[in-house]
Amino acid sequence: MLVTMKELLQVAYKEKFAVGSFNVSNSELVRAILATAEKKKSPAILQIHPNEIDLVGDEFVSYCKEAAYKAKVPVVIHLDHGESMDDVIRAIRNGYTSVMMDGSHLPYEENVRKTREAVEYAHSVGVSVEGELGTIGDNGNSSEGGSSQILYTDPEQAIDFVERTNVDTLAVAIGTSHGFYPKHLEPKIQIDRLQKIYNNVKVPLVLHGGSDNPDEDIKESTKYGIAKINLSSDMKRAFFNQLRDTLSQKAEDFEPDVLFPEANEAARRVLENKMDLFGSTGKAELYQLSRF
Ligand SMILES: [Zn+2]
Repeated sequence: MLVTMKELLQVAYKEKFAVGSFNVSNSELVRAILATAEKKKSPAILQIHPNEIDLVGDEFVSYCKEAAYKAKVPVVIHLDHGESMDDVIRAIRNGYTSVMMDGSHLPYEENVRKTREAVEYAHSVGVSVEGELGTIGDNGNSSEGGSSQILYTDPEQAIDFVERTNVDTLAVAIGTSHGFYPKHLEPKIQIDRLQKIYNNVKVPLVLHGGSDNPDEDIKESTKYGIAKINLSSDMKRAFFNQLRDTLSQKAEDFEPDVLFPEANEAARRVLENKMDLFGSTGKAELYQLSRF
């Protein structure tokens, strides 16, 4: 069932688990995510980055929506890292139930203004909005990009930002980066900073750059308001590494139903682990609509 982010995350936030938000730009990954979510009785978020929608075209969202409607678990379709009102409007017209307006790289007042504009527009049609304060680092190997320097979220500024923008969820910068971490860089989540933000603002928090972090840190973060964890690289690496292997082993084959199943399996194994780690396994039952 397709739901809004607000409906999805208020339960996760209250019950202290996080829902995985997985990037999709092909049908194989959509199927892998929704099949795994149903198997694990877990809610799930399909997120599409502006680069990804450019790759596959707006029609791809119709496929995602149909798949979400038919799913036996709650599903959100979310715009990942929208940077302009054009991105937001395109996503809403396509039927996403949640959008992110990422003004984190802008001067603070500009970020507030831009995010508030997105909130006013999206709320008028019942769509949820994620804002971002502070910037997520960039390991240089993901399509999400990010900042070359991590600017941490200021817990005091977070109060002002949430109040003035009226966002439904807030992405925080607490030491994660997009993509995989180079060997010299150790991923470290600042739990004490997260705790302060959690005490200050009363909206569900979002962790970007969920790949390649120590499991204990991820688990711990869900105790302090992290209710959505974005994950792309870990899942795609499993999928495409297996696909590369299969393509070299079956060099003469060219049928999708021969080449894709093993890659799908590899992605599903990662997704199962992540749903267990995030604590969303079995939680679809907490949503009224999942009982039918
Ligand atoms: Zn991100």
